[in-house]
Amino acid sequence: MSGAKTDHPTSAQSQPAKPPKPAKSAQSQAESRTLPPVSGDFYHLAAMMSADDQAILQRVRAFMEAEVAPIITRYWIRAEFPFELIPKMAALDIAGIAYQGYGCPGKTTLLDGMIAVEMARIDPSIATFFGVHSGLAMGTIYLCGSEEQKRQWLPTMRRMEKIGAFGLTEPDVGSGAAGGLTTTARREGDEWVLNGQKKWIGNATFADVTVIWARDEADQQVKGFLVEKGTPGFSAEKMEDKMALRVVQNALITLKDCRVAEANRLQNARSFRDTAAVLRMTRAGVAWQAVGCAMGAYEHALAYSRQRNQFGKPIASFQLVQDLLVRMLGNIVASECMAMRLSQMQDAGIMRDEHASLAKAFCTSKCRETVGYARELLAGNGILLENQVGRFVADAEAIYSYEGTREMNTLIVGRAITGLGAFV
Ligand SMILES: Cc1cc2nc3c(=O)[nH]c(=O)nc-3n(C[C@H](O)[C@H](O)[C@H](O)COP(=O)(O)OP(=O)(O)OC[C@H]3O[C@@H](n4cnc5c(N)ncnc54)[C@H](O)[C@@H]3O)c2cc1C
Repeated sequence: MSGAKTDHPTSAQSQPAKPPKPAKSAQSQAESRTLPPVSGDFYHLAAMMSADDQAILQRVRAFMEAEVAPIITRYWIRAEFPFELIPKMAALDIAGIAYQGYGCPGKTTLLDGMIAVEMARIDPSIATFFGVHSGLAMGTIYLCGSEEQKRQWLPTMRRMEKIGAFGLTEPDVGSGAAGGLTTTARREGDEWVLNGQKKWIGNATFADVTVIWARDEADQQVKGFLVEKGTPGFSAEKMEDKMALRVVQNALITLKDCRVAEANRLQNARSFRDTAAVLRMTRAGVAWQAVGCAMGAYEHALAYSRQRNQFGKPIASFQLVQDLLVRMLGNIVASECMAMRLSQMQDAGIMRDEHASLAKAFCTSKCRETVGYARELLAGNGILLENQVGRFVADAEAIYSYEGTREMNTLIVGRAITGLGAFV
């Protein structure tokens, strides 16, 4: 297969270079009018952004189409990360874009979400790498760090000179992290001694700093620690053989008597409640990633349907194929509008856990359904990675499960609307 094939249907490519050569009636139909553009943003939400924000989105789109699309399938197959792209991503000037101060411009979380769409639309792995760095890692420092910690880390992370990771999940503790973390922190003088393991930690094989959440042996509260690369007692082993998001470097971290200075304890992370505040913010981002993942699969499927002929006609001309495309588009528009309103609520300071959880659960479910339709439309060719859609199908599985499974997010919403918790 050719990984160098840039198969994403860009706006410029929206009209196939060569119209299909179908039977006469369909041919004359295709040639007699200009085909509409391939775009999943059917309700023109991007057009609601300011001119400045639209320019940022276009910059991200251009980068993803020119730099990521041509190479990403090969990296995905080899489960490698394209490190050469980090300086180019840094030049986009988008890390920590919604934070205020410490080198960050204080743009909206809505813009941040639309950036996630532009990334995931081309490749969900790159969107995840960026989400872990800019959302989970920078976001933890932004929400839970002291002034000094924010000044030390956020400007360099904004410039992507330092890359971050976020370690919450453990081999035996996933959904039950709130009450079940087993990684321990013991204070000894001006230091903390960390022991335990963390599983699935994105970027951690190479990150300059990893946030580690651990339970204080003294008061049993969950606290956060900034563990810098090379700290003795910290090791990160790459997890192999994933079937999704293969470009993301997930690690199994082992902390063995790992000593961290008190100065590296996140000074404003006092309990799991503070961890949950970070997750509330980043779950909204995952809803946006799901929109982008679905949009990418839809755009590939639409472009394919106009180029693939069966029975002497483009398959796009069949009613049942149009039904698949319209189902996909409906899912995307519903998810996009929901995510947009969620971000507006976040920007207004009124977004609660249950709002973020509903969008995360709904948008990722609809994404999973949508990429399935796209694969169905490509039939046999949908199985081949060279046709892109298969990668979105696989990646949707991870997005569906991380940052809280559908079940856990459903329970958060269920508790809010009934007043009755049903977690255990
Ligand atoms: C690609 C990828 C990247 C990730 N990156 C990170 C990262 O960077 N940092 C990090 O900390 N974590 C990360 N994770 C971990 C992720 O957040 C967890 O996988 C997720 O929270 C679910 O935990 P689990 O996989 O251990 O599943 P489990 O908690 O074992 O759940 C198994 C099943 O049981 C269900 N279940 C559990 N409890 C209940 C209940 N009370 N009621 C009903 N059903 C229940 C779940 O919904 C699920 O279907 C990543 C995961 C993946 C796949």
